[in-house]
Amino acid sequence: MKTSDTEAETGTNAAPESRPSNFIRDIILDDLKSNKYNGRVQTRFPPEPNGYLHIGHAKAICLDFGLADEFGGHTNLRFDDTNPEKEETEYVDSIMEDVKWLGFRWDGLFYASDYFDQLYEWALKLIRDGKAYVDDLSAEEIRKYRGTLTEPGKDSPYRNRSVEENLDLFQRMKAGEFPDGSRVLRAKIDMASPNLNMRDPVMYRILHAEHHRTGNKWCIYPMYDYAHGQSDSLEKVTHSMCTLEFEDHRPLYNWFIQQLGIFPSQQIEFDRLNLTHTLLSKRKLLQLVREGRVRGWDDPRMPTLSGIRRRGYTPEAIRNFVASIGVSKTTGSIELAMLEHFVREDLNKRALRVMAVLRPLKVVIDNYPENQTEEMDAINNPEDAAAGSRKVPFSRVLYIEHDDFREVPPPKYFRLTPGREVRLRYGYLVTCTSVVKNDKGEVVEVHCSYDPATRGGNTPDGRKVKATIHWVSAAHAVDAEVRIYENLFLKENPSDVEEGQDVLDNLNLNSLEIISDAKVEPALANATAGTRYQFERLGYFSVDPDSKPGKPVFNRTVALKDAWARVQGKKGGKN
Ligand code: ATP
Ligand code: MG
Repeated sequence: MKTSDTEAETGTNAAPESRPSNFIRDIILDDLKSNKYNGRVQTRFPPEPNGYLHIGHAKAICLDFGLADEFGGHTNLRFDDTNPEKEETEYVDSIMEDVKWLGFRWDGLFYASDYFDQLYEWALKLIRDGKAYVDDLSAEEIRKYRGTLTEPGKDSPYRNRSVEENLDLFQRMKAGEFPDGSRVLRAKIDMASPNLNMRDPVMYRILHAEHHRTGNKWCIYPMYDYAHGQSDSLEKVTHSMCTLEFEDHRPLYNWFIQQLGIFPSQQIEFDRLNLTHTLLSKRKLLQLVREGRVRGWDDPRMPTLSGIRRRGYTPEAIRNFVASIGVSKTTGSIELAMLEHFVREDLNKRALRVMAVLRPLKVVIDNYPENQTEEMDAINNPEDAAAGSRKVPFSRVLYIEHDDFREVPPPKYFRLTPGREVRLRYGYLVTCTSVVKNDKGEVVEVHCSYDPATRGGNTPDGRKVKATIHWVSAAHAVDAEVRIYENLFLKENPSDVEEGQDVLDNLNLNSLEIISDAKVEPALANATAGTRYQFERLGYFSVDPDSKPGKPVFNRTVALKDAWARVQGKKGGKN
């Protein structure tokens, strides 16, 4: 790991274009008004380093950093590393990279494992106060004794051990005297509580496993519920945002803090982001990676931040998307098309336009001089005058998109067809005169004539053509690989499975199409990985790190047509 990555990061945080009000902001505003925390706002983002971050985490990150930033507060990045068996340094590194990429800088960088000594001391205190005990029941027995939502639990026969015996046993648990799973430390609360989380929850388990930071120092590890609130408290976190599934854990979060008499951090729950056609669970995403169903955590089809970054999504698009979906207390599902809409909207402003032909069809302009090349002026970005223009070579033999020619045109087809004139973007008007076919009767070459008076695409006599198509000059074009992605899941809800089936049975087996013989403008020969372009009329594409000099590889970020805008249009909204 580079040292710079382990240092606390400071700096300005990125903000979305707009910040709609929400109930969490209202809570913070009230707390500021009542001076609850002396005007302080301290948040944290607490990922468990057991996988790569996904777009759902982006929502939490934008809230944690965004709200603190808005009120001049601070945000810590804290790795919640209490599960030594599932956690790895690779994940820690990727999480830091992803948070920075999203545009955020943490104030403190912490690990729950930094607090293992303090948490242990506090556990001893709870034992001494008669608030915790060592239980010898097995995990299975503990489950049985816990009861159900309708039935109260039963006290463990070990619940009334003396303080001395509990202290002795817990210290020996720490010293490594007992095998995994043989004993646990539990909080002594109320086995009849209507809230199952309050029925003497487990605080510590025995696990002889090496930890990515503490090595073999510990063979007992704190549970999430025992570690999280106290970590918040140690960092003097004022507003601890987490997702709704922790709502029922809040009484326990508060109980530990009250029993220990430590800084009263406040937990606030919000709705998890769910996206249609998308799985947002690190466990399931890990399965996709492990089973080789995708090329890795950063496969551009993955909803991970590293995946969508490689695909070409921008941090600005993600931040604006998160700001627009807001937060609430009920979980719903957001259309994937809405996320794509924000990606298009952002790329439309910044992506340079270029011409690329994905499925090349050869066009020969018979009356164009054999050895001539002209440099045509092409606009780089009509949305951004400062982006300027470039020269694109034009010559006698070109490639156009296969789909832009039909020998027998269907109704309302205005592109190239025998006898019809169309405009070649930034080039000339051409008319199809004849075609060449192969043995199978397929058109393999189209012959045209051009009108020299229409250079740049204008007609001196004012005649109109209905279609403008893109092209590249055959002699100058660069071969490129283009990867077209479809949703990993065709079903809106990937978890909607038949009995006995798994979500992975819903995988779209055609989610990746590789076009290996695309043709692009010569300027793209050595395009740098990560650069985003609009291929005119086709969509937004981003240069993949697999590119080699002279053989670029492009990922389709998103196609041009905006399904979300159309949906909105139908609803009468404007977009
Ligand atoms: P997963 O279920 O994907 O494994 P997790 O909740 O276990 O995610 P953590 O590393 O514990 O992942 O999450 C860190 C923070 O991100 C937590 O505060 C969690 O509530 C939040 N978070 C995780 N998933 C989402 C989501 N889909 N939408 C919003 N916030 C999320
Ligand atoms: Mg988790």
